[in-house]
Amino acid sequence: MKVTVVGTGYVGLVTGACLADVGMRVTCVDTDHDKITNLKKGILPIYEPGLKDIVDRNFKSGRLNFSTSLKDAISESKVAFIAVGTPPGEDGSADLKYVLSVASEIGMYSNGYLVSVTKSTVPVGTASKVKNAINGELQRRKVEFSIDVASNPEFLKEGAAIDDFMKPDRIVCGVDSEQAKSILNTLFKPFILNGHPLLFMDIPSAEMTKYAANAMLATKISFINDIANLCELTGADVNNVRKGIGSDVRIGNSFIYPGIGYGGSCFPKDVKALVKSSAALGHKLRILEAVEDVNNNQKTILIKKIIKKFGEDLKGKHFAFWGLSFKPETDDMREAPSIVMVDELTKRGATVCAYDPEAIHEAKKIIGEKITYSKDAYSALKNADALLLLTEWREFRSPDWKKVKDELKSPILFDGRNIYESSELSSNGFIYAGIGVK
Ligand code: NAD
Repeated sequence: MKVTVVGTGYVGLVTGACLADVGMRVTCVDTDHDKITNLKKGILPIYEPGLKDIVDRNFKSGRLNFSTSLKDAISESKVAFIAVGTPPGEDGSADLKYVLSVASEIGMYSNGYLVSVTKSTVPVGTASKVKNAINGELQRRKVEFSIDVASNPEFLKEGAAIDDFMKPDRIVCGVDSEQAKSILNTLFKPFILNGHPLLFMDIPSAEMTKYAANAMLATKISFINDIANLCELTGADVNNVRKGIGSDVRIGNSFIYPGIGYGGSCFPKDVKALVKSSAALGHKLRILEAVEDVNNNQKTILIKKIIKKFGEDLKGKHFAFWGLSFKPETDDMREAPSIVMVDELTKRGATVCAYDPEAIHEAKKIIGEKITYSKDAYSALKNADALLLLTEWREFRSPDWKKVKDELKSPILFDGRNIYESSELSSNGFIYAGIGVK
């Protein structure tokens, strides 16, 4: 089957590469010329474990191609995925300009029936806007064929995107025609050999499923962060509480790890967009408003601990960061708590030297020269008044504590992800502060 994927970012590139890997003929389209030129040379725009091998293999075999022209790519495609960004608009609602501009182009350039599948995260009702944009162009061209629209929200996690795409827990497809259902059934069959479901439903329900899933996960994170903060006031230890509640199968262990708040390109913007679209219908999503509020507060929780230790005025203080990306195994810096930490510390006169295994080039685009960057974990520590662990990359899990202590000016560690044991750190001579732990 011939497939076009429009938007070659985290979602589009993974989708295109994985579809090609199971035998589809895929062209990934992007308006970013540099991205496409680099992809043709084997240079990937993002760090995602395992992705480069799949891209290289399928590009060599000719099953995967890259283009800046949707017009050239779409000819004879049975499916066109829309996988462009849906960033928050000024009021927090999802900005659909990229999605609708691609929809119009699909209407302008397709040369026969196909299914236009929206993979971008979009509010309920977007499919009808996509349909109108496509049909407007088809009518203008006076063509004989029609185009179906469908919704196929993406649930991949950055850092584990290939596994998530290849062996998904479920695939959700919103359709309103039997032909679209049959084509998507054929397309996705290779990915449900693990027995997990391919769920067909109406389009609005599919669109809502994505927001509801992200809202639920964000809620779990804010819930445990709120409990962690309460643990500190009561003398309980959230690590014990987490294990205590997580072993209840009705609750489960995932997404109840306290930390410095969720970031990334999805949870913050999707929670905001859902709150906004709900408010537009006169319905206040009170839980999600609180989720957002707790998260914003959590991003500065280490600052409160730092101030408690060093005072409000941090002039002359120097801090080392381990980790910048919003989570491990990705170079994605969008909405990363580290950005807030840099702002808060530098505003108070402190300086920062940061190390991250993959995200420094992305961090420089956002944070710039406000801080210095180190090429390795230990040299980032030199002369620092404290170490802040902000992203739980594997290489930080078991450091050489003697070396850490030798490099730091004072052996103080703020653990924003609770990856260390307070007792182990104390026995190594460190002053340790985690989130909600004793
Ligand atoms: P991204 O910003 O990494 O990539 C979007 C790409 O679309 C960019 O390369 C941009 O140049 C391209 N683009 C914009 N307009 C275009 C046009 N008219 N024609 C062709 N290309 C165009 O975005 P992403 O992280 O891949 O997210 C895409 C969508 O998927 C968003 O709606 C997001 O919410 C959703 N999503 C993201 C993730 C994730 O983990 N990143 C997971 C699930 C869903």
